[in-house]
Amino acid sequence: MDRIYLDNAATTKIRPEVLDAMTNAYSEYGNPSSVHREGQHAKKVLEEARETIASCLNCDPTEIIFTSGGTESDNWAVKCACDSHVITSSIEHPAVLKSCEMLEKHGLKVTYLPVDKDGVVLPDSLRKALVADTSLVSIMMANNEIGTIEPIRDLCSIAHDHGALFHTDAVQAVGSFAVDVKELGVDLLSFSAHKFYGPKGIGGLYVKKGTTLSSLINGGSQEFHKRAGTENVPAIIGMAEALKLSVNAMNETSVRIRSLRDLLTSVMKEKFPRVLFHGNDSSTHPGIVNFYVPGMDGEKTLLLLDVKGFACSGGAACSSKDNAESHVLTEIGATKEEAKNSLRVSIGAYNTEDEILAFADALKSILN
Ligand code: PLP
Repeated sequence: MDRIYLDNAATTKIRPEVLDAMTNAYSEYGNPSSVHREGQHAKKVLEEARETIASCLNCDPTEIIFTSGGTESDNWAVKCACDSHVITSSIEHPAVLKSCEMLEKHGLKVTYLPVDKDGVVLPDSLRKALVADTSLVSIMMANNEIGTIEPIRDLCSIAHDHGALFHTDAVQAVGSFAVDVKELGVDLLSFSAHKFYGPKGIGGLYVKKGTTLSSLINGGSQEFHKRAGTENVPAIIGMAEALKLSVNAMNETSVRIRSLRDLLTSVMKEKFPRVLFHGNDSSTHPGIVNFYVPGMDGEKTLLLLDVKGFACSGGAACSSKDNAESHVLTEIGATKEEAKNSLRVSIGAYNTEDEILAFADALKSILN
């Protein structure tokens, strides 16, 4: 039986072109920090990859620093750009929330902004939370559980008016819809290759020129003395190829994914008239749908869907083993029942209409 993969917010299938580019890169073994020919060749392809990524995000290549993924980028931005008070939202990914908790343990102050019923951070709540010693505001661009897209440009300009830096966790955004760092105005932006059909364990942090950010990982002088450690050249090449392909096809792909999302929500409404969708339908990630059908046992339903050949999720992949209530759903006002039993379907570039319809049928037969 063919599996139907509907968990693209957890991770995506690597594109064949990306795999090819990485396979070729693995036969090159130079260290980009070495001065000999092998090293200089590795350095050249590394810098070409940096240029590709920078052009996809509309920044200068020197503003892109490679990391081991979204988690490291978030940890770095939050832990190293703040020296007093940080403001974040209550629905961030654990990579940001746990980093903030660590700051609190070290005596820094953290304010967690509430969100409205759709998961939106209201600009006024940020205005009210900013104080004289706020050094960093960190608000995610698209929520990984409910897909809500935050008003980053407005929030960033409010933070800047108060002299604070602005970081956004754009791990679910980059590769899925247009992200232009200049247009957003942000100082720091995290991204991760495995969310856009690239390899796992590689990502980056955009650091706007002139931003003061100490290092999280100390050692050699790689990455403009900002992030130590020999660069993972094949993975970086794969990430650049994946982002270029995603950005080139973005208009067409995001329209197609959004139409599959619309199809899913409309068949779900027909089959389950009492279905409840979480999040903001008008400003949302094209592929993420989070829902609750009254009476549904989330964990059992997930397992039965898996047996029938469907992969989706009970929320964030990284907390799926906790079997806890989703903090995101709790924050948007969902009941305990809903926060524990809702499911997330995340549609990607490889899904088809037939798969969406088959999913709705399978769910119907399980819930019956
Ligand atoms: N931030 C968000 C919003 C995410 O969805 C994820 C991964 O699920 C991360 C950060 C962590 O990224 P990575 O898996 O590359 O460490």
